[in-house]
Amino acid sequence: MVFENLRDALDSLRALESLNTLICITDTDNNLVYESSNKNCMQNVHPEDLKKLNIFCRSLCSTFRVLLVDNWVTAITTIPFIIGDKSYWLEFKQFIRQNIHLSPETRGFEDLYIHQIKEMAITDSLTKLYNRRYIDERLPIDMQSSFELDVPLSVLFIDIDYFKQINDQNGHAAGDLVLQKLALLLQKHLRRGSGWVARYGGDEILICLPDSGKKAAKSIANRLRGTIENYNFYYKGKKIVVTCSIGIQTVFKNSGVTSISELLAMVDKNLYRAKNKGRNRVC
Ligand code: GH3
Ligand code: MG
Repeated sequence: MVFENLRDALDSLRALESLNTLICITDTDNNLVYESSNKNCMQNVHPEDLKKLNIFCRSLCSTFRVLLVDNWVTAITTIPFIIGDKSYWLEFKQFIRQNIHLSPETRGFEDLYIHQIKEMAITDSLTKLYNRRYIDERLPIDMQSSFELDVPLSVLFIDIDYFKQINDQNGHAAGDLVLQKLALLLQKHLRRGSGWVARYGGDEILICLPDSGKKAAKSIANRLRGTIENYNFYYKGKKIVVTCSIGIQTVFKNSGVTSISELLAMVDKNLYRAKNKGRNRVC
């Protein structure tokens, strides 16, 4: 979303201030540009303001965190946006509950509550796999620690073959079911402790295999590809043929790859080699 000036941005956000939400705007150098002082509870919010807000929230991508801020359990939504020709971060800080006087039992409940919110923030709602946010947060950490330990790290990119056709021929609900079954299969057949599985988006699934070299990763990928090919997917009694293509990339401390975007570009290239070679294969 682009605003002409700060006044414009604040006008559009005014409705939020009455929802017990602290609004902060920082520029990309992390200098605080604006902080609302209004921490009052629910007041009358004008319906027109809410409508504006609804459109505004749906039009932006955001990240969501739950943190303890000044002894408050605080949900923070961060949204990138532009004022004039400069980019800023907009943060909505919602004070959920004060944490300071909690009894041990309540604290247990509170911890569970925070845990559940955190789980939701990193879980894909359809497949229950980890989501893209988890990949963005966890992959750099695994990459860094593999390099520090001087062990390889491998990534598999799994993409369902002709998934659009599966949707077109059997309906979107059938496609959803295929994604859910596939997620279960991958989790079941990936040996415990060997790595983690996440939905990258659409019909693409990423598996991270810390401490796995090229040979081990290839053998895991081939095993998973075969499992999917041989599994009988059914929707409303009708068999659906499902295969997938898998790209693999292994990196080491000295392989010259330093960011996850480089790693993902390489594994994506290998996935497309698998697609171009005829699909249902590992490259
Ligand atoms: P390819 O073999 O080249 O991968 O072909 P494809 O048809 O799988 O690739 P394409 O990227 O054209 O299509 C992916 C499709 O996945 C398109 C989109 O409608 C569908 N899709 C993405 N997310 C979901 C979802 O959550 N559920 C369902 N049912 N379909 C989805
Ligand atoms: Mg596909």
